Amino acid sequence: MRIGLITPEEREKAFKTPKKPDVIEKQKLNVRYHVEDYEVGSRPRRFLEAFAVILKHTNYRFALEHFIRMSAKCARCAVQCPVYLATGDKCDIPCHRSELLLSVYRRHFTMGGMFRGRLFGNGYLTDDEIEEMAESFWNCTACRRCTLECPAGIDHALLTHLGRFILSEIGIAPRALVVSTREQLEGATGNTSALPVPALQDTLEFLEEDIFDDKGVEVKFPLDVERSEYLFTPAVSDFLMEAETLMGIAAVFKATGGSWTISTNYYDAINYGLFYNDRILERVIRKLYAEAERLKTDSILIGECGHASRTARYFVPIHCGGSKAKPVYNIMEYTHKMLEEGKLKLDPNVVTETVTYHDPCNIARQGWLVDKPREIVRAFCKNYVEMKPNKTENLCCGGGGGSVSIDEIRPYRTTVGGRAKADQIRETGAKYVIAPCANCKKQLRELLEDQEVDCEVIGLHDLIYKAIIFNDKDINKPKPDKED
Ligand code: SF4
Ligand code: SF4
Repeated sequence: MRIGLITPEEREKAFKTPKKPDVIEKQKLNVRYHVEDYEVGSRPRRFLEAFAVILKHTNYRFALEHFIRMSAKCARCAVQCPVYLATGDKCDIPCHRSELLLSVYRRHFTMGGMFRGRLFGNGYLTDDEIEEMAESFWNCTACRRCTLECPAGIDHALLTHLGRFILSEIGIAPRALVVSTREQLEGATGNTSALPVPALQDTLEFLEEDIFDDKGVEVKFPLDVERSEYLFTPAVSDFLMEAETLMGIAAVFKATGGSWTISTNYYDAINYGLFYNDRILERVIRKLYAEAERLKTDSILIGECGHASRTARYFVPIHCGGSKAKPVYNIMEYTHKMLEEGKLKLDPNVVTETVTYHDPCNIARQGWLVDKPREIVRAFCKNYVEMKPNKTENLCCGGGGGSVSIDEIRPYRTTVGGRAKADQIRETGAKYVIAPCANCKKQLRELLEDQEVDCEVIGLHDLIYKAIIFNDKDINKPKPDKED
């Protein structure tokens, strides 16, 4: 992978701060994202206190102890990082970013560091270092590409995650994420888009009518059906933005006779905790799981969303019962299973345009969902082309790690973070790029617009919806009378 450096003009655009000088002065923090109002005094002391508490109550210390011993400073990680390759700035070398936090750990939480600090009386954490971390940790998309290369097994995205966690504990976290999560956990609607139940119900009725108009098939979005096999929970933004993805999923369930339900009590799989705070992550996971328990479903099925699938898949067992917890699947696993069992039929003559597939980092990097989506696509798309690199070595869309939700850094995301991805997509010449993730869809649409790439971003189930073949018995039923 080779990425050209951004021009001075692009650099100015990408790093321009959208915040007013008086806001920066008031918050005493020169970062490009807005933060909530918070106490600005004694930040170094509060950072170290938060760090100490986290070390006491988690097992991060084991990873940190390993990392401070291992780094060879070989810089192999640098050549894998799309951010560094675009900026050429040494501050964006993955191990340089990680060192910001590791040096604090070394100085304040190891015997040798504390001894040297007392002996020489220097090295206490400063406000400037906190500001550097607050800026740097949100320049990383947490795509984990750099971990593929590191011979020492250092996970820079984990260190970015920990750094953001500590910062958020002292009030430094992007307002966009904090406000949404507050609504999800404490607000009246209980979801990150503040979508009320009547609006959800209206939307789903509207989609049912659309499917009937399109396909002549009566398809239902079942609500609050106890003892269903799957509790289906997408990113709530799909109800507002991704109608065709949801219609495709409902169509798959109809054609395959699957047992599923959507809860009207909790219908948001988004978990921004993954991006800034482990305590938030745990609360959101518990909320999702409680809904599966309440409706007595066999399992949890997450929609087309990378981070939501990853958090539910890996943290439900950790926080909700270990190996006895209900299993978690991504919707593409269900669809693939139905295809394999011959229950889902797709017309190979409908989608004739060139199609490519974007691997969302959160489901692809560790090799969880890489081949199954491709097998589905190849089953009905004649002109499928791969981007290179792909699968576990894919390039991030540029909006990973929650950065896509921060609108004020869009120029950074589309000029720096997603630059290589835009080139990759352009080179395929594809008409459609499939992005089975709510965050990737938003970022890729903005990226392709800003980088002037002529390609449409679409969900996997949007395409399936075009090509699905229903059973004869389901087609051409009379249109249901809404009064009945
Ligand atoms: S690849 Fe690993 S060992 Fe080499 S510089 Fe990067 S973090 Fe250090
Ligand atoms: S996680 Fe991705 S963006 Fe962050 S340092 Fe590694 S390669 Fe770069």
